[in-house]
Amino acid sequence: MSEPNQENTSIEEKPVSFSVAYACMRCGTQVSQSELTRLPEIKCICGFRVFTKVRPPVVKTIKAF
Ligand SMILES: [Zn+2]
Repeated sequence: MSEPNQENTSIEEKPVSFSVAYACMRCGTQVSQSELTRLPEIKCICGFRVFTKVRPPVVKTIKAF
């Protein structure tokens, strides 16, 4: 007897519902949070270290009267 060896190789990837991005306050270069965590230190390519949080654009239906 030989059973069909069905390997389930599909990997469930978690959908990125929201990604926090940071923008350099000096040059405005946007860096994603995952990129920042990979860096040894939070620093922009321009050398500035102050980032401001950038909210992802949220699609909203706004009723305007
Ligand atoms: Zn910068």
